[in-house]
Amino acid sequence: MRRLARDPLPGARLSLISKSAHAIYSGTLPGVGAGHYAAQDICIDLETLCRAATCTLHVAEIAGLDAGRRSVTLGDGRTFAADVISINVGAVTPQAPEFARGPALGVKPIDDFLRACRNCSMS
Ligand SMILES: Cc1cc2nc3c(=O)[nH]c(=O)nc-3n(C[C@H](O)[C@H](O)[C@H](O)COP(=O)(O)OP(=O)(O)OC[C@H]3O[C@@H](n4cnc5c(N)ncnc54)[C@H](O)[C@@H]3O)c2cc1C
Repeated sequence: MRRLARDPLPGARLSLISKSAHAIYSGTLPGVGAGHYAAQDICIDLETLCRAATCTLHVAEIAGLDAGRRSVTLGDGRTFAADVISINVGAVTPQAPEFARGPALGVKPIDDFLRACRNCSMS
């Protein structure tokens, strides 16, 4: 996104679909756990980022992907087709039963981790 903001692709129309209006800078996550930052300090505002990259932000959850048709379907049934689709949905940490019993938290999805941190009064 930053490269596209600096060096736009002529004629290309860009869309970003994210179920959240912000992205979290994972490298700073340990700092939240340590109490150096508040959760909102490590959030990147996607609307501002998209505006800089002349990209349209759609805050929505992707429910399906059709590689043959090069399209994605959103949770509300809308479909987006594109020449190129880049998928960056992150990882999900398995929530092992022993995690639930002990003091450990799964880090991904990061939004869930931050919510759990807030509940533990870590941030
Ligand atoms: C503590 C920590 C430190 C790290 N440090 C580094 C580092 O120094 N350098 C490095 O290269 N990597 C680092 N990483 C790894 C890095 O965070 C991941 O590799 C990177 O975040 C993966 O990018 P991503 O965009 O795929 O996923 P994420 O950053 O997890 O983003 C996924 C996004 O997709 C959205 N999403 C998920 N499912 C859907 C859906 N169905 N529809 C719409 N949106 C959806 C989520 O809301 C989220 O915004 C670190 C990770 C951690 C936990």
